[in-house]
Amino acid sequence: MFKKILIANRGEIALRIVRACKKMGIDSVVVYSEMDKDSMAVRLADESVCIGPAPANKSYLNQDAILSAALMTGAEAIHPGYGFLAENAQFAERIEQAGLTFIGPTAKNIRQMGDKVEAKRQMILAGVPCVPGSEGALPHDNDAIIKLAAEVGYPVIIKAASGGGGRGMRVVHKESELINAIAVTRSEADANFGSSVVYMERYLEKPRHVEVQVLADKHGHAIHLGERDCSMQRRHQKIIEEAPAPGITEEQRRQIGEACVKACQTMNYVGAGTFEFLFENGEFFFIEMNTRIQVEHTISELITGIDIIQAQILVSSGQPLPYKQEDITFSGHAFECRINAENPYTFMPTPGRISYCHLPAGFGVRVDSHIETGYTVPPSYDSLIAKICVHGLTRKDAIKRMQATLSEAKIEGIDTNIALHQRLFTDEGFKQGQVSIHYLEQWIEKNISNH
Ligand code: ADP
Repeated sequence: MFKKILIANRGEIALRIVRACKKMGIDSVVVYSEMDKDSMAVRLADESVCIGPAPANKSYLNQDAILSAALMTGAEAIHPGYGFLAENAQFAERIEQAGLTFIGPTAKNIRQMGDKVEAKRQMILAGVPCVPGSEGALPHDNDAIIKLAAEVGYPVIIKAASGGGGRGMRVVHKESELINAIAVTRSEADANFGSSVVYMERYLEKPRHVEVQVLADKHGHAIHLGERDCSMQRRHQKIIEEAPAPGITEEQRRQIGEACVKACQTMNYVGAGTFEFLFENGEFFFIEMNTRIQVEHTISELITGIDIIQAQILVSSGQPLPYKQEDITFSGHAFECRINAENPYTFMPTPGRISYCHLPAGFGVRVDSHIETGYTVPPSYDSLIAKICVHGLTRKDAIKRMQATLSEAKIEGIDTNIALHQRLFTDEGFKQGQVSIHYLEQWIEKNISNH
């Protein structure tokens, strides 16, 4: 096992990884930007190294500085967290070339899944159900494209092969808009992602977002930890997640889980990963794979008892996964509320000093957060400041626990979206469950836009 790990991230996830290291008896080194010098992760880690000024491209994205920090401190492995360099194949490669271990999948895995056309090809090979659409990239042949769209059936969605973060996509409702929409998506993709390769899918009208968590080791062994429902999104940003996904039967879970496990084995995947699906009328349709730890891994941990960060570290060091699929049991229901430093009505970020902070705790409550009284939320990074999670015996029980838990949270000095979460957890539609990915935006339109 590694003796020392460097954490190339900040905020709550840096803290989460520091804690996993402590539990495993591994020394942690946290790198930080000047802006984060007093952060909780820096204080709790065994060592810390400043890697540059606040802007991420000068610090958390600065591969040279991070690699030097690792070599200088004698760290044997680097955990990238999520965001920043977590899905950067070149970074993974450079770490391995320097003789260190990247805590994540191979650079090849990252590249394959980062190219969505290639990712779909791999899924089809492994028998994972995908959204019907073009077989691979769209050709430069208008007649062929028009014919294909008619076969797929309108509305269709044109997506950039290298797109991400909800960008590089365009919905097309009729043939007269098709060719122009493709040209625009191509040129945007070229400008933003450096590739004009696009593909086509049927546009699902009222899907849910359901994703499957997997873990795989270097010995060909893979398991799944069930699914999460992340349909409560605004502008493709997840706000509330839950596990298990309401209404998914044990048989559906087993089938889709096995398909994901098989895909991991087909592509020799290593580490933690998430297969994202749209789920409509009882069917799963693969959209993409995230080759990293995700923000919402916490709720899968709550219902399975598996420490996913610890598992990532174990398998990266070459150890086999210490559990088999039959060892994984699912218990109760968990929710996560992403608490953001943002105005709950306009959604504008609200960086600034927190004059008073009380984060909830108690039975069935888990809070992952790096904030405290006196902490200043920097303007330079993501607005996520806390993840409030609860675990309950049933979905209903967990909803009640989240209502009580949210009422205890106090963050003063800056606006947060706690009030929005409180309203959502009393909303009848959401409480019933199984809402589509459009529910939250429609709810905001109805309840907040005329505020
Ligand atoms: P990104 O990598 O940018 O997140 P995804 O492929 O995961 O892109 O898609 C992001 C979101 O776009 C999905 O969560 C869903 O809301 C919407 N979307 C993508 N593909 C489709 C589709 N075929 N039908 C309907 N909505 C889609």
